[in-house]
Amino acid sequence: MKLDWTDEETEFRAALRASIQTNARPGWTLDDRDMPEPADVEAVKRFCAALGEDGFLTPHWPRAYGGREASPWEQLIISEETWRAGEPRGGQYMNTNWIGPALMAHGTSDQQAQYLTPITKGEVNWCQGFSEPDAGSDLAALRCRAVRDGDTYVVNGQKVWTSYAHAAEYCFLLVRTDPDSPKREGNTILLVPMATPGIEVREIPNPYAHHLIHEILFTDVIVPVSCRLGDENRGWDIVRNALANERVGIARHAHSEHVLDRTVSDATNHGVDVDDPSVADTLGMAYAWCEAARAMNYVAVAERISDPHGSRPMAAVSRSITGPMEREVAWACQEVLGDQALAGGTEADRQVVTGTTAMIAAGAYEVQLDLIGRLCLDLPRGK
Ligand SMILES: Cc1cc2nc3c(=O)[nH]c(=O)nc-3n(C[C@H](O)[C@H](O)[C@H](O)COP(=O)(O)OP(=O)(O)OC[C@H]3O[C@@H](n4cnc5c(N)ncnc54)[C@H](O)[C@@H]3O)c2cc1C
Repeated sequence: MKLDWTDEETEFRAALRASIQTNARPGWTLDDRDMPEPADVEAVKRFCAALGEDGFLTPHWPRAYGGREASPWEQLIISEETWRAGEPRGGQYMNTNWIGPALMAHGTSDQQAQYLTPITKGEVNWCQGFSEPDAGSDLAALRCRAVRDGDTYVVNGQKVWTSYAHAAEYCFLLVRTDPDSPKREGNTILLVPMATPGIEVREIPNPYAHHLIHEILFTDVIVPVSCRLGDENRGWDIVRNALANERVGIARHAHSEHVLDRTVSDATNHGVDVDDPSVADTLGMAYAWCEAARAMNYVAVAERISDPHGSRPMAAVSRSITGPMEREVAWACQEVLGDQALAGGTEADRQVVTGTTAMIAAGAYEVQLDLIGRLCLDLPRGK
């Protein structure tokens, strides 16, 4: 495992940081990442277009698709620097990290021609339609149904917890195409324009943030067979790899460290003595969690390089540390800042939100432990 950055990687980080500083909307925070207002959707597209112009949106992609085959370490640096800046790519990190790569691996040449260039130019938002009311951790229990009718599928069903659905032009949709086959078979990925008649997006009201999550209702939605990604009933293989890429693609430790830095300066401004042993202990422990999450993220990236198509257990190990890390940092902010940590719109306030949802988004914590038990420890599957 590599333990230090090369000179080239350090230069890459500095140039990227400068590009983000120039192009991100001033004052952008993780609150804006959910794109609660139409202006935020536009800001995301402007930012991603500028990042693409500067060569920092998809440098890790193959040259044939507009990248320059930069290493996964540079991809990680992009993730660290954008997260540190409150992720001004909005949901487009999904495009570059796993939706685009899935299209490259399984798409037809027509699909690649249609979808990849807009991603490299930052012009398009996708959402990921996997989870359903009774199919979250047990995703294979999904019931959203696509029935073949000549050259089309007719889709009926519901997706839930879908991030960015209100701002997306396309949905990377997992549907059941063969209800009689075993759970992990009989599923298919469809690439569905969100403007298709019969699609309804509803925001799920929640106490945390505007446009954090949605449900999508599909009523007799007609999707051409040409919008199917890969073979019919073979969607599970695509999803498994996409989820592993999702779990290593988000450098949440970088943002949490940034929040801690802000907390130290905010606490100092509010007269808290951060050198007091009990305060220093709380902060030190939270920084240590960030370092642990960082280290495991790097291990997961190393695994991705050495075994890109394997079962990738380190993605689950990394994810199982990232969730608690977010929560620990949120608690540290509350303890050190007291009531101030809950002042609306502050970084510490947002950390309480991410810390609350982090144990479940991108795969529940207990499910990651179950994966680790099976993949690393050879234990039987949990009930
Ligand atoms: C902020 C946020 C954004 C999200 N964005 C998206 C998105 O864009 N697209 C998308 O498709 N989904 C999205 N999700 C959904 C997310 O993937 C699911 O919430 C997650 O997979 C858990 O599913 P569930 O909510 O149905 O909970 P359940 O599966 O009902 O699990 C609830 C709890 O039950 C326990 N549990 C369940 N199964 C097991 C098990 N096998 N072993 C031990 N304990 C278990 C765990 O404690 C778990 O936390 C998002 C979720 C959140 C919170």
